[in-house]
Amino acid sequence: MIIDCHGHYTTAPKQLQDWRDAQIAALKDKARVPEKGDLGITDDEIRSSIEGAQLKIQRERGTDLTIFSPRASGMAHHIGNATTSEHWTHHCNDLIYRACRIFPDNFVGVAQLPQSPGVSPKNSIRELERCVNELGFIGCNLNPDPSGGMWTDPPLTDRYWYPIYEKMAELDVPAMIHVSSSCNPNFHATGAHYINGDTTAFMQFITADLFKDFPSLRFIIPHGGGAVPYHWGRYRGLAQDMKKPLLKDHLLKNVFFDTCVYHQPGIDLLTKVIPVENVLFASEMVGAVRGVDPETGFYYDDTKRYIEASGLSATDKQKIYSGNARRVFPRLDAHLKKRGR
Ligand SMILES: [Zn+2]
Repeated sequence: MIIDCHGHYTTAPKQLQDWRDAQIAALKDKARVPEKGDLGITDDEIRSSIEGAQLKIQRERGTDLTIFSPRASGMAHHIGNATTSEHWTHHCNDLIYRACRIFPDNFVGVAQLPQSPGVSPKNSIRELERCVNELGFIGCNLNPDPSGGMWTDPPLTDRYWYPIYEKMAELDVPAMIHVSSSCNPNFHATGAHYINGDTTAFMQFITADLFKDFPSLRFIIPHGGGAVPYHWGRYRGLAQDMKKPLLKDHLLKNVFFDTCVYHQPGIDLLTKVIPVENVLFASEMVGAVRGVDPETGFYYDDTKRYIEASGLSATDKQKIYSGNARRVFPRLDAHLKKRGR
């Protein structure tokens, strides 16, 4: 079985963006009371938006199941206030729920959180509970920088974040650390802000002892862990200078990396440097990089090809394809077992 742990609903029916545009436009009228309203999207529209995209790609590439969340760059937590984020997040998560109900064999949901800069992560607990307990989601995406490139909130290791970690630990769900769009013109969203978010989160974890407080907390750092695997010696050395334990003991029981690295040498490096137990298969399709690599003739995000060509043993490939995901997402494992998979 091949589980893609990182897929976004980037092809949602147009009404979703129309709703968002209207919501943003309404923010200009300060006197107006924000309304959640509804999207007016039918199940048929959801079906056709996925059939020709994510589902078609799953079939073509031979993957089985995608851990599916709202479009990451669309989260844009910096827009409006906590209520803006809450209404938008509800709609985005409800759509994921409906997509997973329509294609129960192919998708399982992960939640967007209604974060907002300067607003306590405590505020996201209710939506996380709703998504896990009522909608059957198995994890969440946690934005380490709700300001969109300005980094105005405290680091992930600050107690500021502890309420959401307590809830994640209680529900036994991991989070993918995932920034959203960038409103800082210095940082291209997917080329710089994403990779920066990944790298920054890992370095924050090194400097503190978060996992002493939360031994069962689990994070997936996407996009191959940003710059981390490539600079593994630097991070090991920095940890050593700070008198921290070896990274394998300090972080690797709690931090995992995905395979959204879009070329063979990158995957070879990732799987050589990071223990195989800490790598989860992912493609982020249909996502950040959509083109065909002229050097190979295949899509950049066809990451299964790189794992296949990596020279890893069949046992190691199986861990990356599904074993690790089932361990990191216990609710996914339970869900699959219930369905005889
Ligand atoms: Zn993503």
